[in-house]
Amino acid sequence: MKAVAVFPKQREVRVIDAPEPRLQSPTQVKVRTREVGVCGTDEDILQFTYGTPPSGSEYLILGHECLGEVVEVGNAVRGLQRGDLVVPRVRRPCPHATCPACRHGHPDFCITGDYTERGIKEAHGFCSELFTEDVAYLHRVPTELHGVAVLTEPLTIAEKALREVKRIQERLPWRHEPGRAVVLGAGPVGQLGVMALLRRGFATTVYSRSPKPNVKADSAEALGAPYLSSKEVSPDELVRRAGAPDVIYEATGVAKAAFETLKALAPNGVVVFTGVPAHPEALSLDGAELLKQLVLRNQVVLGTVNAADSDFETALEDLGRFRARWPGGLERLITARHPPEDFADVVTGKKGGGGIKHVISFG
Ligand SMILES: [Zn+2]
Ligand SMILES: [Zn+2]
Repeated sequence: MKAVAVFPKQREVRVIDAPEPRLQSPTQVKVRTREVGVCGTDEDILQFTYGTPPSGSEYLILGHECLGEVVEVGNAVRGLQRGDLVVPRVRRPCPHATCPACRHGHPDFCITGDYTERGIKEAHGFCSELFTEDVAYLHRVPTELHGVAVLTEPLTIAEKALREVKRIQERLPWRHEPGRAVVLGAGPVGQLGVMALLRRGFATTVYSRSPKPNVKADSAEALGAPYLSSKEVSPDELVRRAGAPDVIYEATGVAKAAFETLKALAPNGVVVFTGVPAHPEALSLDGAELLKQLVLRNQVVLGTVNAADSDFETALEDLGRFRARWPGGLERLITARHPPEDFADVVTGKKGGGGIKHVISFG
C-alpha cells in the first residue's frame, strides 16, 4: 500500500510501498485513510528536529490528524462496524507501572516521556492507504461531519485547554460570565480555539502578526472575532481596544509574542500556552516584573499538550455545533486538498503555500 514516510537517517521523505497491515488482536480495527491534515509538527519532522521511527524501522510513516473509514473489525470489537467513519487519537501510554497518568488512561499527562505518538514518536502514523488501531483509540464520527472531521485532532487541543481553564476558574465562584479572551495566532489551532471560546461565551479577539487584509483575519472576523495585528497594535493598545483578557490562548509557539502579550492578562486570568517552539529563541524580559504581576494579580500560567479521550468526544460534538452556528466556517479553514505524493511540498509550502489548513486526501 501507498504510504508517506520520512527516513531521518537519510534525511528523506518519500512515498513508499509499505506492507498492508493486518488485524493482530480481536479488539483491532482496520481503517482506510480518507484524509490527513498537515501541521507545524509535520514541518518540524521534515526539518528532522522531531520524528522517531518505531524501533527496528528505518522510516516513520507520517500523519497524525486523520479521518478514516472502517473496513474490517476484530471479533471482539463493539460499537464500530464496516463503513463507519473514525478519527484516531495520537498518543499511546508509556509502559511503566510507575507512571500514574498513563496507568489511569491519561497518557496526555505522561510523566516519563516514554509514550509513543502515531506519526510523530516511535509509532507509524496514518498517512497510508490503510492502518490498524485498537478500538479503544478510535472515535466514531457522525456521517454529516465527513467534510470537516479531519479538523477533530487540532480542535482537541482547545477542548483540553478550555476544560482545564474551566476547572481552574472554579476558584472564582462569584464569576458567572466567561469573560474576554484573546487568541494569539490565527492558524488552524488559533481559529479552532476561537470557535471553541466563542461557543463557550467568551468575547474573543484574535491578535496575530500579519496586518489585514488576509485570509486568516477574514476567517476570524466571519466567526465574530475582531482581528488585530501585533505589527499595528501594541499589547497596551490591545487592552484599550478589546479590554484585558481573562484568558489568553496562545497558539503560535513564538516565545516573544507569548510573553509580550502576557502583560495584557486581566487580574485572576489564565494564560494557556499550546504552541511548541521549534527553534531556540532568546529574549530579554524583566523577570521580577513578570513574577510580581503573576503574584499580585493571582494569574495562572498553563501549558497543555495533546488531549484525552473525552476531549475527542467533545471535539466531535463541537464540530456539529460549529457547523450549525457558522455554516461554511469550518470548510473555510481547509484551504486545499492534495495527493499524498505532494506531502513534503505541502508541508514546506512549495505547493499550496499560505491559507490555513492543508489536507492530504487519499481520494
Ligand atoms: Zn498536528
Ligand atoms: Zn506515562
